[in-house]
Amino acid sequence: MRRPIVAGNWKLNLTIQEGKDLVGKIKSACGSLTSVEVVVCPVYTGLFAISQLLTDSSIGLGAQDMFWEPQGAYTGEVSPIMLRDAGCRYVIIGHSERRRYFGETDETVKKKLLSALKHQLRPIVCIGETLEEREANRTFDVLDRQLSGALAESAPADAERIVLAYEPVWAIGTGRNATPDQAQASHAFIRQWLAKRWNADASSKVRIQYGGSVTADNAAVLMSQADVDGALVGGASLKAESFSAIVRAAHDSKTVAA
Ligand code: PEP
Repeated sequence: MRRPIVAGNWKLNLTIQEGKDLVGKIKSACGSLTSVEVVVCPVYTGLFAISQLLTDSSIGLGAQDMFWEPQGAYTGEVSPIMLRDAGCRYVIIGHSERRRYFGETDETVKKKLLSALKHQLRPIVCIGETLEEREANRTFDVLDRQLSGALAESAPADAERIVLAYEPVWAIGTGRNATPDQAQASHAFIRQWLAKRWNADASSKVRIQYGGSVTADNAAVLMSQADVDGALVGGASLKAESFSAIVRAAHDSKTVAA
């Protein structure tokens, strides 16, 4: 059985102190829910300070992006080695905001994914269609293209280390989440894609999060879908109450129901 993973993407929010306060509350509320892998992804400047608070905790630390080179003349970038040095175990790659505002492509997503794996970081790779693409019935074509690009040089042996996040762009930060059926259909497509590209065993090991306006109210029904293995949470991850409720929903939907 796949262990659900719930990650909070704080985006460009929270000072270092605000992040520390939030993590303290998340630790108290979620520390005992070890059936769920919980990850927080602060801005770069908060990573090290927050890692110090997580040393005695099962909660993982992730970055929101990285560059693929380990070091060198790349002003403004942060490398996987530096993220490890700051205490990270995870990194979000290919978020739609990076694709939209910062020129991320399927090719750069692939390079970052390979570099993250090489440097012992677990990548959380985001894919998903825009509203225009969904309305043109191109959702699966888009997922096929993004998966083909991102995973072009990955292997079945990487299945347990790669996390995919299906995030329909039209659902991110809009308050309009995919319906459970829409989410399950895309997740099932992704899992079948993996089975064809790799094999059924490897496909069954990959965790696929849903992301896009996940809240304490809709988390349980989304995560009770067969191929939904947790959530990537933006807005609702900025408050301990709502984030913890989502972690608890992951715990209940995958362990109590099982
Ligand atoms: C995200 O940024 O990955 C996200 C899903 O945001 P939100 O939960 O706010 O829609």
